[in-house]
Amino acid sequence: MTCKIDYVAPADLLAERIILVTGAGDGIGRAAALTFARHGATVILLGRTIAKLEKVYDEIEAAGGPQPAIFPLNFEGATHKDYHDMAETLDREFGRLDGILHNAGLLGRITPFEQYNPELWDQVMQVNINGPIWMTQALLPLLQASPDASVVFTSSSVGRKGRAFWGAYAVSKFATEGFMEVLADEVEHLGTLRVNSLNPGATRTAMRVTAYPGEDPNTLRTPEAIMPTYLWLMGPESRGHNGQRFDAQPK
Ligand code: NDP
Repeated sequence: MTCKIDYVAPADLLAERIILVTGAGDGIGRAAALTFARHGATVILLGRTIAKLEKVYDEIEAAGGPQPAIFPLNFEGATHKDYHDMAETLDREFGRLDGILHNAGLLGRITPFEQYNPELWDQVMQVNINGPIWMTQALLPLLQASPDASVVFTSSSVGRKGRAFWGAYAVSKFATEGFMEVLADEVEHLGTLRVNSLNPGATRTAMRVTAYPGEDPNTLRTPEAIMPTYLWLMGPESRGHNGQRFDAQPK
């Protein structure tokens, strides 16, 4: 598994690229949206809390980045029609997609499986894997319209080695890795679309605090500090890397 934490991206790495970031209002997704815009990308900010997306939008504009777009969507209730309507809108507005960072995620509960609430399990699977899968299917024609597109699925250490009590979250991340491999194999022949997974590693966000309440957040890297691998994966230098598992932080 490869980590590119020492990668130094040129300022115009993502110039002219149109990149969709899910869960762009907070945590790692927020940092990724701001970072991609700072490197020249037109970023489509997708999330469920519009006020948070608007703040990120304003920050990008204030920093002089390319005008972003806001796409409100909640993976919990979104339907196939929503994903196809979304594809139509993005096609009309942009005509193609050069990248998707699948970042939105739900932790669920850290609890013994025998006590896991079935509704919560379904909710986690919906947000972490089923929604992103069907959204990706609807957006495939737009990705195929790009000369160099990169899809990045966000994984986790518990999506690579199971751990007690991590329930639906771990299962959804294993499914993410599996789907990444299936799709990567299907698009390999295109040569213009790559699909990889990325484990951020322990990062200072709200989700991490919920998962590890006893931990001192100051001992963790910030979302901004883990951006080099995100940039490398979205930029042209990762071309040819397909179906691989990456880490944003060294082990
Ligand atoms: P946060 O909880 O800080 O942010 C998660 C983002 O996902 C938020 O913007 C949230 O929106 C959005 N989101 C949640 N549910 C939905 C939904 N139903 N529809 C649309 N958007 C939704 O988490 P992190 O930034 O820590 O995590 C980002 C990714 O990294 C996740 O996939 C996570 O599993 C993964 N990860 C994180 C690690 C860490 O240490 N932080 C370690 C390993 C993996 P809103 O703000 O509106 O709630």
